[in-house]
Amino acid sequence: MLSKPDETSASKQAVQALGLLHRAALPDRHHLGWALLWLVAAAFLEVLGPIAGKALIDEHLLPRVLDWPRMAMLLAAVVLTGWVASGLRYLQLVRLSGLAMRSVQRLREQVYGHVLRLPMAFFDRAIIGQLVSRVTNDTEAVKTLYVQVLFVMLDSSIVLVGTMIAMAWLDWRLMLIVLALLPAVLGIVWLYQRWSAPAVTRARQLRSEINGQMAESIGGMPVLQANNAEARFAARFGKTNAEHYTQRLAEIRANAWLLRPALDMLNVILLGAVIFAFGQREMSAAEVGVLYAFISYIARVIEPLIQITMQFSQLQQSVVATARVSALLDEPVADEHAAAADPGADAGAATLRPEVPPDVPAVAIRHLSFAYNEDQTVLHDLSLDIPQGGFFGIVGHTGSGKSTLLSLMLRYYPVKHGDIAILGEALAGIPNARFRGEVGLVPQDPFLLAASARDNIDMGRGLSDADIEAAARAAHAHGFIAALEHGYATGLGEGGSRLSSGQKQLIAIARALAGKPRILLLDEATSRIDSQTEQIVQTALDELRGRVTIIAIAHRLSTIRDADRIVVLNHGRIAEAGAHDELMRIEGGLYQRLYLLQQLAA
Ligand code: ATP
Ligand code: MG
Repeated sequence: MLSKPDETSASKQAVQALGLLHRAALPDRHHLGWALLWLVAAAFLEVLGPIAGKALIDEHLLPRVLDWPRMAMLLAAVVLTGWVASGLRYLQLVRLSGLAMRSVQRLREQVYGHVLRLPMAFFDRAIIGQLVSRVTNDTEAVKTLYVQVLFVMLDSSIVLVGTMIAMAWLDWRLMLIVLALLPAVLGIVWLYQRWSAPAVTRARQLRSEINGQMAESIGGMPVLQANNAEARFAARFGKTNAEHYTQRLAEIRANAWLLRPALDMLNVILLGAVIFAFGQREMSAAEVGVLYAFISYIARVIEPLIQITMQFSQLQQSVVATARVSALLDEPVADEHAAAADPGADAGAATLRPEVPPDVPAVAIRHLSFAYNEDQTVLHDLSLDIPQGGFFGIVGHTGSGKSTLLSLMLRYYPVKHGDIAILGEALAGIPNARFRGEVGLVPQDPFLLAASARDNIDMGRGLSDADIEAAARAAHAHGFIAALEHGYATGLGEGGSRLSSGQKQLIAIARALAGKPRILLLDEATSRIDSQTEQIVQTALDELRGRVTIIAIAHRLSTIRDADRIVVLNHGRIAEAGAHDELMRIEGGLYQRLYLLQQLAA
């Protein structure tokens, strides 16, 4: 679950991470096989080199057995094993990095595609910054897991084991000296864990907090500046930033102390111990080569240990991140229709609409109850018929459940108690592509993309220029769009910042109409615009009358005055219903009071 990432246990996270890794690597498994092969071969050659060197020293140089061809061969072996090993490591790295990058790319697409299909309820509790970081940073952790962690660890382990075997074969007593010092290494690794891992974890948290604060401030800049909150936000940011610095410093201290200096010291101790033990024996000239091989090996034992130690905290981080991605992918999508819908289906969907007899209601609601949270019912047993082609108004005080009713009609939340049928079909059974074509929405806050006017109306549906212009004309948006410097091709700026609120609203209406919906839902489409633009919207709606079923929520009662029927919601129940004149005749009724109040205000 996105909001509580730390709930799952470490072992479960590890299982999740491995599962995801497996899924991500599956299409590239032959690359993985090759990378592994190169890795093992390189490690083998690296262990072999000193053995050839030892043979050269002990069998030829010291006893003066000057067998030139064989000596040349051994010398070549010393040099070539090193070179070829480097070449193999190059091949391995290229294979592996390519594989990892492709996995990240695939995974990112998968995660983004999944997020697009998540149910609206998910976004009620999601934090945008966290979600963004799932798709960008956490997917990247999969790459770290492959390249840095799994392979470096595997590599180091293979080199370590291979070296120990070679040492044992050369001189098992000297090998035991090296082995005896391994607990000291483990001690350093343990200390490093204790010291560095919490700092690493905290630093990561703080960094995502920094991102979050930044995103929040930018998003809310007008509010922030209007409330003179710059200094407070700067102070909060500074505090987080300073703590981030402290934690990073602790991490760097741990690295600086333990990784290089401590392990290098161990290296020196090991060398000294081996040379000392060697010197204790009665000097047999034949063993100088063994000393050479051991000195070469000791450096190679230490290096993998440093690597393993360094990768340890990264491993934990990557596992946590990968587990988070995996948990996100396990979030159930909105419904099976949405899951099955392919993006290309939208354009052709309009032609597949079944004919509906005119007496079937556009929307039929039966005994509908709904709660966002179990303990607080928002809609109580609503039953309602909205005839086709009609203009239907919904009013009610704030929090009475108007938007919620619309959200349910739009399938943003599943209906659990009661039924909604759209044009005679149960809501849940309508394929997504067709459903989104039938029902158009003009939301309270028109969401505009940083794209051209044309693209904002099209929304990727691939509509023709003629259709787009027709929709814009119907929404009375054609006039001002045509007057922009590049007409329909004019960029509207981020969030449509170039347009006035009313113009944005008209674009949103054009967008909804461009899909040629049979039902048009408007949520407070006129609440933020001036009376003149409201007039335009009203005219546009009037012209649509009879052709499109219009369901409009309005605070401003003038918008829906002419509606065929108005429903007044009160605390999630239908309080009154009827045309404007009928509702006005209810003495002391809710509608009458609302209306008179607005008359007074105007
Ligand atoms: P307004 O006129 O202010 O837009 P509304 O009639 O549209 O009000 P709704 O948005 O439907 O009211 O809200 C009805 C109730 O449901 C309110 O009590 C609100 O707090 C609650 N509510 C709305 N959205 C959610 C949500 N996503 N999660 C939990 N509760 C919600
Ligand atoms: Mg609302």
